[in-house]
Amino acid sequence: AAKADGGDGFVFYTREMTERAMARLRLEASLRAATERRDFELAYQPKIDAATGALTGFEALLRWRLDGMPVSPMEFIPVAEDTGLILDIGAWVLEEACRTASRWALDHGPLPIAVNVSARQLADSSFADLVESTLRRNGTAPELLEIEITETVIMKNVLHHLPTLNRLRGLGVRIAIDDFGTGYSSLAYLRQLPVDVLKIDRSFVTDLPHAPDIASTVIALAQRLKLSTVAEGVETLEQRRWLAEAGCDRLQGYLISRPVSADAAEAMVMAAFARQDMALTG
Ligand code: C2E
Ligand code: MG
Ligand code: MG
Ligand code: MG
Repeated sequence: AAKADGGDGFVFYTREMTERAMARLRLEASLRAATERRDFELAYQPKIDAATGALTGFEALLRWRLDGMPVSPMEFIPVAEDTGLILDIGAWVLEEACRTASRWALDHGPLPIAVNVSARQLADSSFADLVESTLRRNGTAPELLEIEITETVIMKNVLHHLPTLNRLRGLGVRIAIDDFGTGYSSLAYLRQLPVDVLKIDRSFVTDLPHAPDIASTVIALAQRLKLSTVAEGVETLEQRRWLAEAGCDRLQGYLISRPVSADAAEAMVMAAFARQDMALTG
């Protein structure tokens, strides 16, 4: 039992710690069960051409509900990484994204889907094999798949990841560096890495148009290295205008669309290709 003077603080602290540990264990157990049942969904957030506004593809974002309530990926992805469950979950994400991209390509027209990949997946020696077999099993053209890897993950262990990145690129899959500008990048490595896209982190997009230094620098760097740019987290018309004018290639963010269900995303794909048909026949 705690002493009356000051002891309460100690008891409170340990109880809070215990509760947190218990909550974490419950979350882990639920996530494990969900993984076994493949009880997840993908939300799809569109990317558009900055100059024309045309739909250019989607990013698949993992969604999980616990007792009907959505749990943020910021909360459960770290747990999935710590426990290794991310390997199974990530395989499901790849499968689902490839299946969906193939189906949309057949029914409407080809648009790439980007999938987020975590450190644990990339470090797995069979990751490139998994990507290859998943593409083949779903009859997915490799250019319909894009892999997003955060800058921190790529750069932390760049030489170790290089063979896998080269193999992925060899398959014809595009590679994007996510959250670019938040980690440390060696410019020498950046030039050698088989990457195609830099995604400007939302924190720098939020600063636009008042503090444009980082966004301009990333766009200039990408143009020098012949990489394409995507701005994430575009929320205002001012940001959109600034980015289009600065030569950013593609835009993504709540201004364009929040992440939506597979059905809603498919409706966007259908509309995009229907419009193209009209242009061709009209
Ligand atoms: P991310 O890959 O950088 O994804 C962008 C996040 O920003 C998404 O959050 C998206 O919903 C959100 N977002 C998009 N536009 C806007 C905007 O205009 N304003 C604001 N405030 N936010 C915007 P979400 O879906 O919660 O995902 C968070 C992170 O979780 C992702 O960051 C990614 O790192 C990770 N994640 C999501 N799905 C997966 C997955 O399937 N596998 C792995 N390994 N990680 C994933
Ligand atoms: Mg991403
Ligand atoms: Mg990002
Ligand atoms: Mg981000």
